[in-house]
Amino acid sequence: MKIRLDKMLSHLGYGSRKEVKNLLKKQELLVNGQRVKDGKASIETTSDQVTLAGEVLVYEAFVYYMLHKPKGVISATEDARERTVIDLLRPEDLRAGIFPVGRLDKDTTGFLLLTNDGSLAHDLLSPKKKVPKRYLATVDGLVTSKDQALFAEGFEIDGQEWVKPSQLEILSVDTSRQQSHIALTIVEGKFHQVKRMMKTVGKTVIELHRESMGGLTLDQNLKRGDYRQLTEKELAFLK
Ligand code: URA
Repeated sequence: MKIRLDKMLSHLGYGSRKEVKNLLKKQELLVNGQRVKDGKASIETTSDQVTLAGEVLVYEAFVYYMLHKPKGVISATEDARERTVIDLLRPEDLRAGIFPVGRLDKDTTGFLLLTNDGSLAHDLLSPKKKVPKRYLATVDGLVTSKDQALFAEGFEIDGQEWVKPSQLEILSVDTSRQQSHIALTIVEGKFHQVKRMMKTVGKTVIELHRESMGGLTLDQNLKRGDYRQLTEKELAFLK
């Protein structure tokens, strides 16, 4: 595959194209032993050898899939007994190096990002980045404005862990069935977080679905178990 040097360096984490342009002025970049200063020059990723300040650079193409996770599969790369989200990728050679960004419980459905880009995954999962995740849930019990006020402030779950302020919306309540439909936007990813937050206010999650992450909403055309690559625009939005 042919790729421009500045694009390749940017992709490998050496900054924006402008930053790469400056870098090429200062640091020695060799293509097959020849100094190259112009980032617009293209190289062949499979045959040209590129070194930057003596270090060999290897272009690794990143892939990003938006998966509509179905129930019954676990958010792991491999497992001796259970089917994993990676097993949903077909054919098998699509799976090499791919992992899920974070976890959804086995019985949770919805948006899950699959990639081989460790750096983006790290950013999206970092608590410092406060990436919003919006969940839709059906819960046993009637969610109240008092619950909303508590969620908006942040509170202690399981008597041991604090959760940051979150946004709890009441979509509907069914008084005859004593159930509520809610949307909850959280900026962390603690273990079973939504279920534990609801439990703390005396409600049990019956159905849980992740609608969006980092402002990217699950494509309505994806059926459970389906996936597709992110568009360039969607990827730029996540980065
Ligand atoms: N919170 C949960 O409790 N479960 C999930 O799968 C995701 C968030």
